Amino acid sequence: MFYTGTRDNSIKVSASEAIAKGICNDGGLFVPMEIPKISLSDIKKIGNLSYKKRAEKVLGLWLSDFSREELEKCIENAYEASKFSSDKIAPLKRLNGRESILELWRGPTCAFKDMALQLLPHLLSVSAKKNLKDKKLVILTATSGDTGKAALEGFKDAEGIDIMVFYPTDGVSDMQKAQMITQEGTNVSVCAVNGNFDDCQNGVKKIFTDDEIKDKLLENGYVFSSANSINWGRLAPQIVYYVSAYCDLVNSESIKLGDEVNFCVPTGNFGDILAGYYARKMGVPIKTLICASNINNVLTEFLKTGTYNKNRSFYQTSSPSMDILISSNLERLLWHLSNGNSALVKNYMEKLKTGEYTVSDEILEKINKIFAAGFADDAATKKQIKETFEEYNYLLDTHTAVAQRVYEEYLKATNDLTDTVIVSTANPYKFSKAVLSSLTEKKSPDDDFKCVEELSELTGTEAPKNLTELKNKSVRFKNTYDISEMRSAVFSFLGIK
Ligand SMILES: *Cc1c(COP(=O)(O)O)cnc(C)c1O
Repeated sequence: MFYTGTRDNSIKVSASEAIAKGICNDGGLFVPMEIPKISLSDIKKIGNLSYKKRAEKVLGLWLSDFSREELEKCIENAYEASKFSSDKIAPLKRLNGRESILELWRGPTCAFKDMALQLLPHLLSVSAKKNLKDKKLVILTATSGDTGKAALEGFKDAEGIDIMVFYPTDGVSDMQKAQMITQEGTNVSVCAVNGNFDDCQNGVKKIFTDDEIKDKLLENGYVFSSANSINWGRLAPQIVYYVSAYCDLVNSESIKLGDEVNFCVPTGNFGDILAGYYARKMGVPIKTLICASNINNVLTEFLKTGTYNKNRSFYQTSSPSMDILISSNLERLLWHLSNGNSALVKNYMEKLKTGEYTVSDEILEKINKIFAAGFADDAATKKQIKETFEEYNYLLDTHTAVAQRVYEEYLKATNDLTDTVIVSTANPYKFSKAVLSSLTEKKSPDDDFKCVEELSELTGTEAPKNLTELKNKSVRFKNTYDISEMRSAVFSFLGIK
């Protein structure tokens, strides 16, 4: 199975090449040229297996130039029981007769990014060996909070790989910041950038595609790779939990094999929900993918009208991992929905540089068949956290609460009674301040760690150790950089003059 580029259909690479490179030279993304299929009887068989074995089966179909042994070893290391707080890895909780919550935050950093970033370093190591011989990989990552920590944790002390993370100074929660600036590992660096997430992401993209910088790195034995959700090695592992959740719904007899389900996904960069789209294309009976946004609702507008307009106000919300105006992975969807028309996708992306594009009626029609979309503001998010806790004694984080609110509105508007999975992307304690202030009128403490304690007392739930222990760790990374200084920060980290 091969991969091509969203902006150039003459590209043809293997899965491992796509993963090693991260992004095409022209700035396009790698996309699969065909979609492997999974039948209902395959799903039935896979349903009897552990998460790891499910992952082996599903990923084996997509990463066809990895040997079985290679893949098995990667997966074995990634989803090691000691790193996850559930041996199910991605457990499904039944909330009521129609809704389940897919908990994707049982990994080391308490957010869904672990699902892919625990695996990506292993996939990258294998891919680099296959394709880049003796080069050292440099991972640059822009983060709106969760990716950075998950990447650092996945890559720390990985052999032959250095990692550098850029985060917006005021765009991440205190807890997320504490997680990153205390990061351990000999091969890691963390930089605060004066700007928002999109500035960070654009800065990284610019460095990635700058020939002069690339040449200089090459002279020194380095090549760039990416851990952002544009890397195929990030997306592919996410397809697994859509298949796995479906298996679990069948196993628990919540649905019958073959019944359709919806997934409602709190969305930022469009990576998580796009994995759901691939699962659907593989043959998992998914009816509607509901795209949930906060008031940075550029995707809601796009999925409803076909116009993507990035020229709008940027808001900081209580769900910061979704505070994004340019959803990079959407480019892959456009390529698939245009039947692989790379010239058209390239044209849309050119237009986006200055502001907006509108897709053809044909593409919009396809979007409307597969996707629904909605958004929730901070007030509605808070209300949802409170209501869900009161009704089900289940504590939602802010991102998941956005999704549940959007789902409830979808339900009211459509009366679509299909069984629905709410994709839960963070442990509520990761956003303790906002969660706490949703549950009580009392003013929350400024200090995130105090909020953790109060939240635990108030709800009688236990805070994850990975978060409470941060308090006693020393700060390693204190510097703040302007966007124009990102490039020199990279050189100085690598010891290049
Ligand atoms: C990254 C993230 C999201 C958004 O996922 P995308 O793949 O970027 O759409 C949602 N919630 C949390 C907690 C996240 O970390």
